[in-house]
Amino acid sequence: MINPDCIFCRIASKDIQANLVAETELSLAFWDISPRQPIHILVIPKNHHANIAELTMNSPEQLVDLMQLGTQIALEKSTGSFRLSFNTGEEAGQTVFHAHGHITSRTPKDQIA
Ligand code: AMP
Ligand code: ZN
Repeated sequence: MINPDCIFCRIASKDIQANLVAETELSLAFWDISPRQPIHILVIPKNHHANIAELTMNSPEQLVDLMQLGTQIALEKSTGSFRLSFNTGEEAGQTVFHAHGHITSRTPKDQIA
């Protein structure tokens, strides 16, 4: 399900451009527009779910797909130290209400000599 008022739904449907990293049938990963670490990539379900709790409760198959894609990218792009985190709710810092994981790392693989 796609919500036309949701920016991440519009990225998922390729209506708005993002700097894409990888995708599966169910999930999409793209670089965060305002990176806070050397690696800062977002991974989202292509269907609209307001946050990770709703995705977990309502669509476990999509949750597993998202976690697998997020983990695969984190392992590929970093030396193995990374975070995969989900702000859930306004008070926890969530600003975009379409579930998304932040893949962040201070140790990109390609910066190691
Ligand atoms: P959160 O605060 O957890 O809801 O995270 C939302 C994230 O989405 C922030 O890190 C933003 O920088 C990022 N963001 C917002 N709009 C875009 C966009 N059009 N393309 C890529 N990242 C975005
Ligand atoms: Zn959405």
